[in-house]
Amino acid sequence: MDNYYIKTNRTFTSIRKYGWIFTVLVALGGLWQPKLGLLVIFIMAGLTITSFFSGRYWCGNFCPHGSLFDRIAMPLSLNKKIPKFLRSKPMIIGFFIFFMFNFSRKVMRVLNFWGSYDFWDKLGLVFVTTYLMVLIVGGLFAMLINPRTWCQFCPMGTIQKLAHKLGSKIGISKKTEKKVTIESLAKCHSCGKCSRVCPFQLTPYLEFGDNNQFHNINCIKCATCVENCPANILSLKTEEEARQLIKKVSTKGYENRQKIKARIVDIKDLTKDVKEFTFSFINPEKVDYKPGQFILIKIQDKPKAYRAYSISSYNEDGSKLSVIIKRVERGYGTNIIFNKFRVGDILDLEGPMGDELVVDNSHEKILFVANGIGITPFIGLTKEVLTSNPNLKELKLLDGQRYEDEFLYREYFEALEKKDSRFQYIPLVSRDKNSTLRKGYVTHVLEYLDLEGYRVYMCGSKNMILDSYNILLKKGIKEEDIFYESEERIEIKKAQ
Ligand SMILES: Cc1cc2nc3c(=O)[nH]c(=O)nc-3n(C[C@H](O)[C@H](O)[C@H](O)COP(=O)(O)OP(=O)(O)OC[C@H]3O[C@@H](n4cnc5c(N)ncnc54)[C@H](O)[C@@H]3O)c2cc1C
Ligand code: SF4
Ligand code: SF4
Repeated sequence: MDNYYIKTNRTFTSIRKYGWIFTVLVALGGLWQPKLGLLVIFIMAGLTITSFFSGRYWCGNFCPHGSLFDRIAMPLSLNKKIPKFLRSKPMIIGFFIFFMFNFSRKVMRVLNFWGSYDFWDKLGLVFVTTYLMVLIVGGLFAMLINPRTWCQFCPMGTIQKLAHKLGSKIGISKKTEKKVTIESLAKCHSCGKCSRVCPFQLTPYLEFGDNNQFHNINCIKCATCVENCPANILSLKTEEEARQLIKKVSTKGYENRQKIKARIVDIKDLTKDVKEFTFSFINPEKVDYKPGQFILIKIQDKPKAYRAYSISSYNEDGSKLSVIIKRVERGYGTNIIFNKFRVGDILDLEGPMGDELVVDNSHEKILFVANGIGITPFIGLTKEVLTSNPNLKELKLLDGQRYEDEFLYREYFEALEKKDSRFQYIPLVSRDKNSTLRKGYVTHVLEYLDLEGYRVYMCGSKNMILDSYNILLKKGIKEEDIFYESEERIEIKKAQ
């Protein structure tokens, strides 16, 4: 499980970014000014009250120690799997009793000094030392295991869970609690990224229940999974909002998703870190997919995880397909695929999936824009559009790579260009000074192309798609004529 868990930004608000200053102020400053510790009473009151309405929301959004772990400790953390026993019931209950016993004993002792001149200092110091203990112990756990290890058995988390249970029983949280919600299970890539970035190492993608919601009481509603889901299908919603969402979501392109057994019949090296894998279907023997769709390849069983790959080429009778995979440095899945997958292996696939790059064949002018490994769907799509679109007048393909030796299927595209005058292939390099090809990014070419009447399909990096999208809008292309797909989460707010 090396490099399974991913370090990623979890501090999306100012409170989450800078809340740790409060921890340091109280835990260290309190040693000189013990009354600072009394501020913790407000924290305890705040977390108890919010948990009635929204479970452990406090832990993910307001907790100053949480901010310290996520902001300051994470870069230094070994980021390993949290041992099971630290999240087990005996540990949580045992530590809660131990902590509460000691804490109340200290408070009771101080209460004997009620009315004395330094009573408030003494009481404040109880909170200061507790805060300091959490900073030291929690900080060590954060660095040696995982940033949020302490939170697995934190007594304040346990208080929140108890208050939340009570809140649910009396019906308070039903309307107010926002839970992680998936818009459609059919659209999930089962990639496990939501789990790999989750501070609590929870597995939302394996546990969605009623109303497509994640009901795990330990979820701290931090939205890290929402921000990182490549399919962009997660959000935090109340029960009612989730019901409304399910009603309005379209699953076009995902209706044919099925489990497939397939054999690897060929593996070809295309460049030093890119391979083409060809599968022949075993069960079912034929699959009905469209060019532009993608397929999921299972990389492991525990926890179940797949990776999504665009269908790059296929045979007409639906019995075979190929995908082109680029090995990602430190990539978890691609290293399994490159190191373990061999010709003859039988694999589990799921699909076909996706609608964004399924081309509408009634258009006269079509533009494909790709960068990096985003070229793969256009290998099959170019052939499809040239052979099956009776109205086609012009098809342009912009293919941006960093270096000349990174182009995939360049001769194939050049041959198609020579054969069919409707097709124009525009390769360009961004970093290769020795190349004779055009230099720059696809966005530079987009700026001067005459794109009136074009329908545009894009695939590649998030930045390329966002920049191109804005250029296309400026050039007068309508939103409904722009389609895109990326391995990264992209959110473009479309005009209503
Ligand atoms: C619809 C769709 C179609 C796709 N089509 C293709 C295709 O045709 N060909 C193709 O090659 N890919 C394609 N992808 C991407 C593919 O699904 C995988 O995401 C890709 O192969 C990387 O998988 P991985 O598990 O090796 O990388 P991951 O391990 O998921 O790594 C992803 C990124 O996170 C970084 N990272 C990993 N671990 C850590 C860590 N511990 N700490 C910090 N950073 C870390 C990596 O450096 C990398 O930049 C597609 C994706 C989608 C959504
Ligand atoms: S991150 Fe991956 S597994 Fe999780 S919900 Fe999104 S697509 Fe599904
Ligand atoms: S499941 Fe999502 S919202 Fe809940 S704790 Fe994990 S990353 Fe945060």
